[in-house]
Amino acid sequence: MKSKDEIPVWTEVRSANINGKKVSSLAITLRTKPCRFQGSTGSCKFCELRQNASSSVSADNLVSQVQATLKSQKKNMPEHIDLFGLGTFFDDVEMPPSARRKIVDEIKQAGIKSLLIESRAEYITERRLKEIVRVLSPIRLEVAIGIESTNPLIRETLLKKNCRKETLEKAISLLGKAKVGFLGYVLLKPPSVFDDNREKEAIEDAVKSAVDIFTLGKKYSTSTRVGLNPFYLPNKNQFSREELENYTLPSLWSVIEVLRRTHRAGTVFVGLNSEGLTTGPRGEACSCNNCTEDLKQAIREYNGSRNLGKLLSYNCECKYRSEREEK
Ligand code: SF4
Ligand SMILES: [Zn+2]
Repeated sequence: MKSKDEIPVWTEVRSANINGKKVSSLAITLRTKPCRFQGSTGSCKFCELRQNASSSVSADNLVSQVQATLKSQKKNMPEHIDLFGLGTFFDDVEMPPSARRKIVDEIKQAGIKSLLIESRAEYITERRLKEIVRVLSPIRLEVAIGIESTNPLIRETLLKKNCRKETLEKAISLLGKAKVGFLGYVLLKPPSVFDDNREKEAIEDAVKSAVDIFTLGKKYSTSTRVGLNPFYLPNKNQFSREELENYTLPSLWSVIEVLRRTHRAGTVFVGLNSEGLTTGPRGEACSCNNCTEDLKQAIREYNGSRNLGKLLSYNCECKYRSEREEK
């Protein structure tokens, strides 16, 4: 029997929209060592990915997690791979360089067309980008950075992200120079951030952040996507009882509203996976019992098709109820 360290946290085949085209995408969340950012300054306040991490994972384990997943998809290999970890792909402790090269090579041999990896901005260097591009070429690389909000008060002070604007811009400029794509994550409605728990403010922040990210991508000439993550509440988390007292998770109607308002700005996709860290539907973005599953499915479809008309054709009584409450 395989040990836990040889099994990824999560895998899924889903739809994505890359360069305006709907493609099938394989998402793999590798079980890695815990993100090291938690060590010195404390972890990002909203993040509990370390609960899925394992300190004993070896370089060989990481490679075999990828090999096994690719093997399971061999007959129907998707065009794109999202290779997630529990921290930073470019951190040599979390992902030893030998494993990094081997994994990228295995993925290249699998015959996909594009690969996404994730990194904190400060780990993105010319040398690391060059190395991975050399192994992967001609397959296209995209690097995702967790920005969460472009409002520094929210990102730095409240969420403790420690991602300064200068560091972020430097990383994006390196991506542009290396002709590597850029994906910026935006977090929708984290707790203890928006006055009176108002959905409206959370929507405004997510829309502005997404638009700012597309502007940054343009500034540094890199093709850009936005990953919108509606906040989910892990069972164990860093928020105090007071901070959660009046908090409600984002509504799926708010997710749709952000998509409606950012559709023209560029490709935004929604991450609806809570990494197994919540139990029951109440830990994730939802709407009423009648429409939650339909809306989730509609959002997943939009991720691939970008068919806004179809997404906006959904309706439910609860949508008007929440709009009335917001006024
Ligand atoms: S959000 Fe990213 S950088 Fe922050 S603690 Fe989680 S994995 Fe680490
Ligand atoms: Zn409803």
